[in-house]
Amino acid sequence: MGELRKRFWELPLADLSRAEWEALCDGCGRCCLHKIEDDETGAIEDTNVACKLLDTENARCSDYRNRKAFVPDCLRLTLRIMDDVPWLPRTCAYRLRHADEPLPEWHYLISGDPEAVKHAGVSVAGRVVSETDAGPLEHHIVEWNP
Ligand code: SF4
Repeated sequence: MGELRKRFWELPLADLSRAEWEALCDGCGRCCLHKIEDDETGAIEDTNVACKLLDTENARCSDYRNRKAFVPDCLRLTLRIMDDVPWLPRTCAYRLRHADEPLPEWHYLISGDPEAVKHAGVSVAGRVVSETDAGPLEHHIVEWNP
């Protein structure tokens, strides 16, 4: 990973280096869960079903570097698409910074504790099932809070 500038997370998203962009993620794992979109209304419902690559115990991608090879439609979050991902959780660091809001206290860049995202109840670690075991998505609709 490249150099991270001091307090880089306070800079506009557009000014972040690639390494800083990657480091902004709080590791909650919410974007690695399946969603169900209503064909007619476009409404999106959340599920507790995780991508097959997500390690459900710690909410980390088990093969981040090669994920596109295994999951071609894995979304790569970039500045360009930030207006098109309204389903990201309110707590998502990219969403917050895109709205020029500060990171929450528990974010590891602020708290220094990568586990704090779990204690804050934001991480999906231990709360999801893998798509390889889940069966029909419709049986797994949940509301994540926060
Ligand atoms: S929802 Fe945002 S903060 Fe959470 S894992 Fe995905 S990109 Fe990272």
